[in-house]
Amino acid sequence: MSGNMSTTEKNSIRDVVIVGAGAAGLSAALTLTRARRSVTVIDAGQPRNAPAGGVHGLLGHEGISPQELLARAREEVLGYGGELIDDEVTDVSGAEDGFMLTLRSGSAIQGRRLLVATGLVDELPEIPGVREQWGHGVLHCPYCHGWEVRDRRIGILVTTPMAVHKAFLFRQWSSQVTLFAGDHQLTEEERTKLQALDIPVVEGGMDSLEITDDTLTGVRLDDGRVVAVDAAVVATPMVARAELFAGIGLEPTAHPAGAFIETESFGQTAVPGVWVAGNATDIGAQVSGAAAAGALAAQHINTDLIFKDLDRAVAELTDDQVGRAS
Ligand SMILES: Cc1cc2nc3c(=O)[nH]c(=O)nc-3n(C[C@H](O)[C@H](O)[C@H](O)COP(=O)(O)OP(=O)(O)OC[C@H]3O[C@@H](n4cnc5c(N)ncnc54)[C@H](O)[C@@H]3O)c2cc1C
Repeated sequence: MSGNMSTTEKNSIRDVVIVGAGAAGLSAALTLTRARRSVTVIDAGQPRNAPAGGVHGLLGHEGISPQELLARAREEVLGYGGELIDDEVTDVSGAEDGFMLTLRSGSAIQGRRLLVATGLVDELPEIPGVREQWGHGVLHCPYCHGWEVRDRRIGILVTTPMAVHKAFLFRQWSSQVTLFAGDHQLTEEERTKLQALDIPVVEGGMDSLEITDDTLTGVRLDDGRVVAVDAAVVATPMVARAELFAGIGLEPTAHPAGAFIETESFGQTAVPGVWVAGNATDIGAQVSGAAAAGALAAQHINTDLIFKDLDRAVAELTDDQVGRAS
């Protein structure tokens, strides 16, 4: 935990409580602390890209380690007076101007506004070796890792129908792409497109990944054959971490690629006082997109608070005061 909270601080109601200190949550916290808001960010320490060696495609920070990026961002938030708590939120209740978050440690935090920046879970296929190689030998996103595996032997593991699409994408980075069809029945259209791109299809079930000295070397099929690859690609269902918020009315919406929390403009949800940013609402967002969404949501949360408080201040003016002003 960063910072020791006194009893008064523990009981005080924050302007904004943020669940999740990934790119989205920390970016929002930076904007809000700089807007002189009291902000607490609670984080369970599982940012999605933690297994990756570097963050790619992030302007000005190309290749920085995910841990280093978040450590820097945390320092920036702390520098403006934000509070960071390393813990897991286990319960959320209340409503606008009075959300109550219960943490695994037993503490409780209150906030006027709530920003959900909990990210998503990549539901990996149960092929032995995939979990161990996730983020290194096993990839999902050509914009994150395509350059790193350019011209290499890339195997597309079809464990969901979405994976065939990945074959077409990764072909941009390498001419040595092979599709492992698994149980998937390819359509005529898919076969034609694969043929046009010179992508061979390996039929048959996938048994496991071959790994030598922590390096992926091939795909072992059910019939014992091993096909050499340097990288494997999966299309994982991407499911927003949303269960926690069902009690306050936030439900995930199904999507062909997983599930996300629906938002209106700038991350605002239909639940008054609740915003969502990053992968929890946009399953395709990379780090830059998640950070941008966090900053944007933060600006709108701040504006919302300013005008709610202004309305209240106006309502509290006496007739005499209003008369003097006009
Ligand atoms: C292997 C891999 C490599 C990637 N590489 C790149 C890349 O090179 N470039 C790029 O731009 N993008 C990359 N991405 C995508 C990147 O990870 C996401 O865009 C980014 O993490 C989204 O940020 P976020 O803040 O929405 O969620 P996250 O970074 O996942 O952060 C969410 C945080 O919320 C916390 N949390 C969740 N529930 C709770 C709770 N109940 N209580 C407290 N805390 C909670 C989690 O522990 C986590 O720390 C990669 C993704 C993967 C899987």
